[in-house]
Parts: sequence; structure tokens; C-alpha cells
Amino acid sequence: MSITLKSPVFAGNPIRSKTPKPTDPFSPTQAYETLKNLVSTQTHIQEPSLLTFKILPLRKGRPLAGSSGDLVKKWHLGWLTFDEFKVVLDSSEVSLSEDMLVYLGYDDDDVVYWGVDVSLGESLVQKFGSQQLSFVQLTTLMVATDWADEQAMGQLAIAGHARALLEWHSTSRFCGSCGEKLIPIEAGRRKQCINESCKKRIYPRVDPVVIMLVIDKENDRALFSKHSRLVPRMWSCLSGFLEPGETLEEAVRRETWEETGIEVGEVVYHSSQPWPVGSSSMPCQLMVGFLAYATSFEINVDKKELEDAAWHSREDVKRALTLTEYGKAQKTAATKVDQICKGVEKGQNLAADFGVESGELLPMFVPGPFAIAHHLISSWLIRLVFCYRKY
Ligand SMILES: [Zn+2]
Repeated sequence: MSITLKSPVFAGNPIRSKTPKPTDPFSPTQAYETLKNLVSTQTHIQEPSLLTFKILPLRKGRPLAGSSGDLVKKWHLGWLTFDEFKVVLDSSEVSLSEDMLVYLGYDDDDVVYWGVDVSLGESLVQKFGSQQLSFVQLTTLMVATDWADEQAMGQLAIAGHARALLEWHSTSRFCGSCGEKLIPIEAGRRKQCINESCKKRIYPRVDPVVIMLVIDKENDRALFSKHSRLVPRMWSCLSGFLEPGETLEEAVRRETWEETGIEVGEVVYHSSQPWPVGSSSMPCQLMVGFLAYATSFEINVDKKELEDAAWHSREDVKRALTLTEYGKAQKTAATKVDQICKGVEKGQNLAADFGVESGELLPMFVPGPFAIAHHLISSWLIRLVFCYRKY
């Protein structure tokens, strides 16, 4: 019925577990110097003694991706070697600048990974199209990922990290203190004000979002909000941003009260999940998941915030989870990615990506295993509080 993941989607990034020392050749600053030298030289050939680089182009937050497989389609990120990247760059109108680059990490073979923002390069779209690679929405890749495939989950986490960092760069151009320009330092992992008397450093900001399944223990039901504007008949958990000066638990209680008029007592932490697919003005969100226990039960929906909210019984929710074909939705999305990469399909529709139904229309369904909401809900159904033991 429910799918238990080893780690939440967008977590468990395989190339960022260890922070290198500044003296290591694969550290952000040293690797950046090597990359810069390579870009400025006229040769396309990377010296064998130098670091190996893998480069992931992203366009407007969409990573470059390809697809393979006959019956079962499987997407992969469109990593380029340095040589491939330089050939592409030299034949396009784009010139590489530090603003476009972010250091993503390195692996056990000392391969250094970079994300590059190529949003300005219109001609690159055709160039990659001829190689059957395409810039694909991260949400589409998220739904298309086989959640049992650890390697694919790792690639998704890398793509999420790259998107979050590059979006942060594009929305953090000027110093909040003096208004001067910010420039990237440490290979795009930080930014600094160019004003000599200010020199303020800024770090990628993470915006915490509380997400909670509000439970009515006595009547064995839970509170759901409706998200039909995104996807028809989808019900999910309540959520909201943390405000200055409040605890996560207070935010859970305040948001629940503001959106539904329900009072919450006990709040129990469940798990968290990076969420780089939220709005581009807040690209580094962290979903912090809770089970929250209601002390009042009369719903009063704030229609400005929510379309609807309702209590759903354990049986109804169990039925929705049992009948929803998450595996089928994943395969459909994987086929869609394959078609986008082959140039067959152009449209990238968010509602269609989340669609999980076929045949009979279900009265309700809940988000798939890529969303923390799914795990909060399944934990309640199987009466488990913690499901991610490793993380
Ligand atoms: Zn400044």
C-alpha cells in the first residue's frame, strides 16, 4: 500500500557527504581554479593529470536529461565531460562566467561535479535536442524516478541541489545591506558584496516549511486540505512557512488554526525533506514534517489560503492509498521524459505530472512517495511515527 523509501526524495545526495579541505585539489576553490584555467586555454583536451569534471547544464531551473530503455524507460542526467562542454560552449553565444557555475561536490574517484546555468543560451536547446537530451522540469523527473532505484534517487538529489543553488544565485544579485552587487565566491557556494567597506558574505538560505498531518485521535480521522488548483481531487497535508520568533511546533499550531480554525495540542516530529521544487523565489525549502493532534474539531476554512479542508476517516484514506496507482504514474512520467528528450512531446504540464489515475476516477488521492505528505499519511495509517531510520 505505501512505499517506504531509504531516504526522502532529494536527500541522500551521493556527492556531498564529505566537505573537502581547502588544500584538496577537488575542494571548491581549487577545483574552480583548475576549471577556469581549462576554460581560458585554447585546447579542448583535458590533461590526464588534472581533475576530471562532470558538468550538468540547467536552463531556467530545468536540468539537462536524457532517457534510455525499451519497455521500461529510465531517465538520466545529461552530464557532459569538460571536453564536450567546451565544444558546446565554443559553438554557442554563451561565454562561461563564475556567475553561472556552482560546485556540486565530488565522488570517491575524485570526479568533481558542477552545475552550470545556461538559461541565456537559446541555441543550446537545439544543440542538445539533436543529441536527444532536453531540459526537463525537475517535478517531472521527480515523478518519473523509480523510487526503488537508489542511483536514480541520488541523481535526483544532485539535480535538486544544483537547481536550488542556481536559483539562489539568480534571486540573490544584490547586497541586502548596501545595495551593491554580490559576486560568487568559493565556486558559487557563497556570495560576497563587492563594496570594500561592506564585503558582506551571504550563504544559501534554507526556508523551513512546516507540514503536518493533523489527527483526530478519538474519531480516528485526519485533516486534509484540497489542492484541486494543482491537481483535481488531490488532498494533502496542511503546510506553511515558519515566521520569525516562533518554534516549529508553534508554526504548526498557528498555520493549522489560521487555515482551518482547528486547535492543535501535541505536536510530534516525524521527518524532513529538502524541497527544491517550490517557488523560484524560495528555492531552498526544507519541509519539516509533523504529526499534530487536534484538540478542537470544527473546521472553518480560510478560503484565501485553501480551497477546502475536511476530515477523512482512516478507511477512506486507506482506500485512496490502496487504489492510487503510484507505480503506474511513475512509469507514465518516465515515458513522458523519454518523449520530451526525443522531441516528441513539448508540453510540460504540472497537473499531468502528478496525475496518478487511470480508469475509474477516485474520489480522493494523496501525493505520491516523492512528497513527505505521503509518508506522514502512511505513517498514520500503519501507526508508525518514524519511517526514515537512516536519516
Ligand atoms: Zn554590501
